[in-house]
Amino acid sequence: MATASTLCIIGSSNTDMVVRAEHLPAPGETVMGGTFLMNPGGKGANQAVAAARLGGQVQFVTKVGNDLFGRQAIEQFQREKIDTTYVLVDPDLPSGVALINVDARGENCIAVAPGANASLQAADVAPALAELPASALVLLQLEIPLDTVAAAIRQSHAQNLRVVLNPAPAQVLPPDLLQGLYLITPNETEAELLTGLPVRDEASARRAAEWLRQQGVDNVIITLGARGVYLLTNDVSRMISAPAVQAVDTTAAGDCFNGALVVALSEQLPLDEAAAFACRAAAISVTRLGAQASMPQRQEVDQVPF
Ligand code: ATP
Repeated sequence: MATASTLCIIGSSNTDMVVRAEHLPAPGETVMGGTFLMNPGGKGANQAVAAARLGGQVQFVTKVGNDLFGRQAIEQFQREKIDTTYVLVDPDLPSGVALINVDARGENCIAVAPGANASLQAADVAPALAELPASALVLLQLEIPLDTVAAAIRQSHAQNLRVVLNPAPAQVLPPDLLQGLYLITPNETEAELLTGLPVRDEASARRAAEWLRQQGVDNVIITLGARGVYLLTNDVSRMISAPAVQAVDTTAAGDCFNGALVVALSEQLPLDEAAAFACRAAAISVTRLGAQASMPQRQEVDQVPF
């Protein structure tokens, strides 16, 4: 195996409070009989933990509050052997919090109060990027201010770093933000919102992916839940199927997929093999409860029969 290069993951850190009950509450409804789980989350942190457990050398750039949740998150990152040099502490804002409901089928709905994540600025991120070697990969999501994401992408391009954008949660993006991305990894909803095209199956995923490539993205992976992913590159257009597993909780399946994907890319795997590796990791994660708690270790992914 080639030597793994550095992964710089820039994004949110939240504390997830998960209630699992028979069904998701409708507006005004109280659902009784649930169980409670609290663990660190946030798309950035989830992806950083996924990548670190799978053997990635992770530099995580985020901002937490000067509070108990923030301190717990930093301790957790250190336990996961994530480099916390650029885990910053906001003196005023609280740490981000996510309230997550999960039903008996593993479906979820989530409300997020971003707190300190909303104050992660371009100037906070710039020194971390400036230190990266040319071989590094940069992975971003959209739970921090869009201006910060855009500035990080511009700086990465100026340094010739490969940028992977996981455009989650779903939002419309300015076209110039897509220009020059090495890879974008929307799910179906995100792909529809970005492109204005319906995404239902391989054919429609291909049309959306072609649209994204026309905007200047080099490679596209659209994640399609239990069906796996659709991959479009300059010379590959194909589905990569997800292993069949009994899903318990799909929270952070996409985060696991993205963290695993960049680890495989940092080990110089081609995109289709990296996507297959990430599908195996994500399939394991959906068989377990929680966000970071569900991320598999490297041996588990290497040893699974699927
Ligand atoms: P989430 O928001 O739940 O974190 P997402 O909507 O961002 O996920 P999905 O497309 O649902 O992303 O899932 C990401 C990847 O996880 C899929 O492409 C697939 O590889 C894997 N995955 C998700 N659900 C399942 C499942 N039920 N069985 C096997 N693999 C799954």
